[in-house]
Amino acid sequence: MATRGNSIIKGIEINEIITVLNKAYADEWLAYYQYFIEAKVIKGIMKDAAIAELQQHATDELRHANMVADRILQLGGTPLLNPKEWFTHTNCGYEEPKNFDVVSILEDSIKGEQCAISIYSKLAEMTRDKDIVTYDIVSEILADEVEHEEDLQALHDDITEFVADIKKKIT
Ligand code: FE
Ligand code: FE
Ligand code: MG
Repeated sequence: MATRGNSIIKGIEINEIITVLNKAYADEWLAYYQYFIEAKVIKGIMKDAAIAELQQHATDELRHANMVADRILQLGGTPLLNPKEWFTHTNCGYEEPKNFDVVSILEDSIKGEQCAISIYSKLAEMTRDKDIVTYDIVSEILADEVEHEEDLQALHDDITEFVADIKKKIT
């Protein structure tokens, strides 16, 4: 554990930071798997564009899990060791794909990103001026989650408009 590094944390309990980071860690793994499996099962119009986006997001979520795990270790904590714990610690849960249609898959993912944005913005507020290093990490992740939501929403809107145009032309 980084003694001097941790001595600069003020006004917040290190154990409390470790607890909330482990919850975010559970979220990241579940988000990773959600994107991974969505990219496999997705069906329908413009699915190739969606697959590229889902795969890119899966890579990002795994990178976030790495960043969060490394910070937990720096703080002297232990990242969750058993995947069973992901479900008891998660904030955002896991949205099992039930309908494999492109639009439904994108809607499921948008929900997940909106939850992630709320969680990381809370973590940023909680650590600002208290734990600068964690604050930087959660801010960087927050910016990625905002981009994720925007990418998915833009793709969702393109696809739904395209389908609406076709319907107009054939009726
Ligand atoms: Fe993430
Ligand atoms: Fe994300
Ligand atoms: Mg993207």
